[in-house]
Amino acid sequence: MAKDNTRNTLAFQTTTPINIKGKLSKRLMCVYRTVGCAYGQCTMCDFAHYADPKIKESNLKAQHEESISNLRKGKYAQFDLLTLGNFFNDNEISPKIRRYFLQTLSKIKTLKRILIESRRAYTTADKLKKCKSYLRDDQILEFALGYESSNEYIRNTILKKAVPEEHLDQSLKMCKEAGVDFVSYVLIKPHHLSEADGIRDSVDTAMHLFSKGNEYGVYTRICFEPVFVTYETPIEEYWKKGEYIPLQFWSTSQVMINIAKKLKETNTEGKLFIGLSDENLSSERFSQNCGVCDLKIKSEIQKFNGHQDIKQLNKLYHCCKEHWKKVLKGGENIHEYVDASSFLGMHHVEDKVRIACKNFFVKKLSQNATIGISLEQMGKCTDTIWHCSEKEQKGYYPFMDKLNTELKVVQSNYNEKDIQISETSNKLKDLRIVDRLKVGMVMNRGGNLVTINPYLLTRKNLPIKELKYGKELKFPGKLEDLYKKSLAVRICTKD
Ligand code: SF4
Ligand SMILES: [Zn+2]
Repeated sequence: MAKDNTRNTLAFQTTTPINIKGKLSKRLMCVYRTVGCAYGQCTMCDFAHYADPKIKESNLKAQHEESISNLRKGKYAQFDLLTLGNFFNDNEISPKIRRYFLQTLSKIKTLKRILIESRRAYTTADKLKKCKSYLRDDQILEFALGYESSNEYIRNTILKKAVPEEHLDQSLKMCKEAGVDFVSYVLIKPHHLSEADGIRDSVDTAMHLFSKGNEYGVYTRICFEPVFVTYETPIEEYWKKGEYIPLQFWSTSQVMINIAKKLKETNTEGKLFIGLSDENLSSERFSQNCGVCDLKIKSEIQKFNGHQDIKQLNKLYHCCKEHWKKVLKGGENIHEYVDASSFLGMHHVEDKVRIACKNFFVKKLSQNATIGISLEQMGKCTDTIWHCSEKEQKGYYPFMDKLNTELKVVQSNYNEKDIQISETSNKLKDLRIVDRLKVGMVMNRGGNLVTINPYLLTRKNLPIKELKYGKELKFPGKLEDLYKKSLAVRICTKD
């Protein structure tokens, strides 16, 4: 809850470029500190933390004065007037205050478009008409709905929005009647979705919204919100357990590229907007790339909000984009995990074992399959190679570098559930901690562990896959030559 002295302050504000129907403009977004959302159940929303039941009209007016002053100073063309809930809930923003807000905004010459947001339940065509009438004729009013996803399960089960599909139809119908434009918020990668599924869902949702807007003859644009980890929400729980990772900037950019492709447009002229505000949360809770290119890519995405030129997004590159592509492919199910023993086994001193391990990786490469490994096991491989001589390492690394680029290997941290299974499963209790962890991870995620560890291979009740001995297969092309050179390293390990 807000303290007394914060009641006159906005909960959050930010400025960004925007594109208004083809014209590059400036946007101010302010979130007014209000009594909060009467619904308050959406699983990704932490607005309740900033709300205060004691907020009075005088506090709202004081906050509005701050907005007005900023709007004047910054000569903004777009103003997103958001609250910690619903603009049309009379208990949060009274009809009198709504009129006051909009009438004062009508006096700001530079202001061309005003966005207000509410759940459908509080919205009527009459309220929309009234609000529009308070503005100048040349000003556009936008009604924004938190529809978030066209997938009913994601919207109403995962996110608990309680927004049936008819709320979208009814909103568009009311907008048409009131001469108001429509905006839908769309989340990118809500919890429980992989990076690839997150992209797909946002693109599908956007196409659905554009088609509905078209059907009702209402100008429709979309405000995307890349999901970030808000405080004391279910999403924070998943994030702490390692079960949710905020999306990468590459994915946000890809959503725009894929939508433009489907729309057959090279410039989306203001139809797409990406909300990059992070409500001042720490960066690890928000979208990120490798850390080196984050600021640059974030700023380019922010610029896209203004220019809308898809070519500029297509041009963005940093080496971590290759890793991101692998992450996307990792969205597929992983059926097989390797450990340090089978990975290093490709260079085992005993030829029989070496060939069995090598053949496994050759086959996976030819099947274009994705394999998993824990970061700890990958670290063990690196540690072993670092103990080899410089000459041996020089022979080894060119092969490993190429294999890592061509083979889809998803390296993961242990998550909380992996560790829980490692600690509590009766099947694992007499194993060493290092084995419990790697098998626990596979048990949790489903699949088999490919290993040459003799202790694990005797355990028939565990998801362990034994390798077959046979005739040596070859890696494709140059990789085989590099592999031969890498045999400068020969390892004797069962771990
Ligand atoms: S309707 Fe909006 S403000 Fe209310 S809980 Fe859901 S996301 Fe938060
Ligand atoms: Zn990068």
